[in-house]
Parts: sequence; structure tokens; C-alpha cells
Amino acid sequence: MLKRLLKRVLCCVFYMAVASGMFCYSLFRFGGTGKTNTEERYTVQLDKSGISTDKKAVSSTDNTATAGNSHSKDRYSKCLEIYNNNKELLILANRDNPLPSDYTPFLRHICDGRLEASVELYDGLTRMFADAELQGYNYWIASAYRSAERQQQLVDEDVRICMERGMSYNDSLEEVYRETMPAGCSEHQTGLALDILCSGNSVMDASQKDEPGNKWLRKNCYKYGFILRYPEDKSGITGVNFEPWHFRYVGKEAAKFIMKNDITLEEFCTAAGQ
Ligand SMILES: [Zn+2]
Repeated sequence: MLKRLLKRVLCCVFYMAVASGMFCYSLFRFGGTGKTNTEERYTVQLDKSGISTDKKAVSSTDNTATAGNSHSKDRYSKCLEIYNNNKELLILANRDNPLPSDYTPFLRHICDGRLEASVELYDGLTRMFADAELQGYNYWIASAYRSAERQQQLVDEDVRICMERGMSYNDSLEEVYRETMPAGCSEHQTGLALDILCSGNSVMDASQKDEPGNKWLRKNCYKYGFILRYPEDKSGITGVNFEPWHFRYVGKEAAKFIMKNDITLEEFCTAAGQ
């Protein structure tokens, strides 16, 4: 009798251990970067060539498709929930999604009046820079809010430089749009984007990514509501080359989700059904 009771207790302990182990494992996987399991992320996303990978996700994970669908649904609801909480901060501006012509951001001066940015990012920016300074890092904001007119000027200047090198107008425009959005499509017009350079390196190029201060920003920006907007391996999705200096304010909740899941704002908005 005692033996049978002991056996039952041991059985119960065993099943509880297995169940809690599986629970922890699923939490770990859900919280990870998701790089290796496309089906755990979103069913609709774009790979580098701009082709939807949803079919690949299903065909490469046939035996886990059911679990994947429920994960995708969870992700969809989570993205939608975050999106609905922060719609204004999550506005998408790119070549396919121009800002509404009457879009007017609520701006304030930053950098001792040298630049303007959205009032929304001020507290996060102040805290981020203060914490970075404690680690010995200082920055120079090269660009914040830009009007549509200013954006057009930048495009025109860059096109002129390309054409002086012998490129045709159309080729120049295409080249320029890899780094500078057309007027109306730049998120600098929202006042929510900042080009942040490390002090001691004022060159706005890939060398920023090797600066310890830039590494700190990329690792910690989400804690203050910012995301690295144009990551190195996502230009096929964002349509913009890697810009280690360009940070976008989306609010803490969205920033954490986007950075922890290694996705872009485009992927996030698609997952939220936008
Ligand atoms: Zn920028």
C-alpha cells in the first residue's frame, strides 16, 4: 500500500517536472531573438529580396505548423495591443508609406536650441544620454526634425553630387534613396528620429558601429524607448542601408518588443495588421 502511494507521488513529481520544464523552455524560445524559427515570429514578413517568407516558414516547419500558428496569433495580438497603445509613436514613414500631407509633429528644441525634435522623445533621450555619460560616452546629434522642404533639399544636393560623378538623373535618384528618403517619406519629418554620432567621430558612416559609444546605444536604446531603425541585415526590408547612427523613438513598450525580437518597424507594423 505504502509502496503504491510512493509510486504515485513519484509519478506526480515527474510529470510536474516535465510540465514546468516545457513551460520554461517555451518561455525561453518566445523571449529569444527568433532568428532560427521563422514560424515563431510572423507569418508575413519580408526577406532581403523583399519576397514574403511566410511560405518558407510553413514549408520548413510542417510538423510544428500548428504550434507556429498559435505563436503567430499570440505575436499578432501582442503587436496589435502595443500598436493600439502607441499609434502616434509607431507611425511608419518610408517610400511606400509617405506621411499624411497635413502631418504636424509637436516639437521642442533640443541641443540648446540647435535642433528640434518631438516632445515625446525628450525624457527618454535625456535619460539615455545621462546613463551613457556615466559609462563615459558622449554624443553629438547631427540631425533630428527636418521639414519636407529641408528633406527635398538634401535629396537634391545628393543627386547633384551623383550626377557630377557621371551618373544619370534616375540612377542618381535611386542611389540617393538608399540613404535619404524622398520628401514626405522620411521619419525625420516626424521629429521622432535622431542621427546620433559618437563624440570623437563626426563621420556619418559605418565606422560609427565600431565606436564603444555606438555599441552601448544599440544595446541599451530600447530601455529608453528607442530602436535602431535601419539594422545591418535588414536593408531588404527597410529599403535603407545600415545606419548605425539613426535611432527612432517608438516608446518603451514597442522598443523592447522590436529590439528583443530582432525585427524592424516594418515587420512590427505588418504583424500588427497595419
Ligand atoms: Zn537619420
